[in-house]
Amino acid sequence: MDVTVLQRNIRSVQERVKQAALKVGRDPKEITLVAVTKTIDIETVKEAYALGLKDFGENRVQELVAKHRVLPEARWHLIGRLQTNKVKDALERAFLIHSLDRWHLAEYIEKRAGAKNFVANCLLQVNVSGEASKSGVAVNEVREFLRALSGLQHVKVLGLMTIAPEVDDPEEVRPVFRELRSLFETIKKSSYPNVNMQWLSMGMTQDFEVAIEEGATIIRVGRALFGQREQGG
Ligand SMILES: *Cc1c(COP(=O)(O)O)cnc(C)c1O
Repeated sequence: MDVTVLQRNIRSVQERVKQAALKVGRDPKEITLVAVTKTIDIETVKEAYALGLKDFGENRVQELVAKHRVLPEARWHLIGRLQTNKVKDALERAFLIHSLDRWHLAEYIEKRAGAKNFVANCLLQVNVSGEASKSGVAVNEVREFLRALSGLQHVKVLGLMTIAPEVDDPEEVRPVFRELRSLFETIKKSSYPNVNMQWLSMGMTQDFEVAIEEGATIIRVGRALFGQREQGG
């Protein structure tokens, strides 16, 4: 990708982050921009790192492993559905696993992380919108999930993540973000062992400004930085 275009995109997203934060009286520094590099070539990722981005997101473990190998100094976030047979490869390479979305996976991470005497930092993925196509724990099952975590020693939940439905007008997903934020605040006030609400991961290219206005501390942005992806993903 052309470096001047990349640089312009990065500055533009950073400026939009800043404006959205200031609009609601937040400190822009509270917001971590995770650059989503799925399908993006490693040379471009290296350029983005050189231009100041330090957090990158991948939705496939294989791609995360390959890019982590080239750029281990960056923080790699796993944002896509994690299959149990890939847990082993993701552990220790992922700074944060955003996609803890089912109890079976928590048990599996416990087993694998336990074997390495390692604690895996995760976000609980919540299916706020209730769309059948989306993974994530249903809102009314979140508390039970968090209570059950007290039985695990190698899985820590450091926040919540959601993927909003695709919409034409980002205002349509504001209630989704607002609901996740409210859940985040409620959990923060309770004390569950192995749970510490630090991160609220919500907002992508289509809706990150609204997500910031509603309290996101991590936004996951791909297309606004790297352009439209060729393949899906
Ligand atoms: C692809 C992806 C993103 C980034 O989407 P863009 O529309 O490119 O900003 C964010 N989160 C998840 C989970 C993704 O899979």
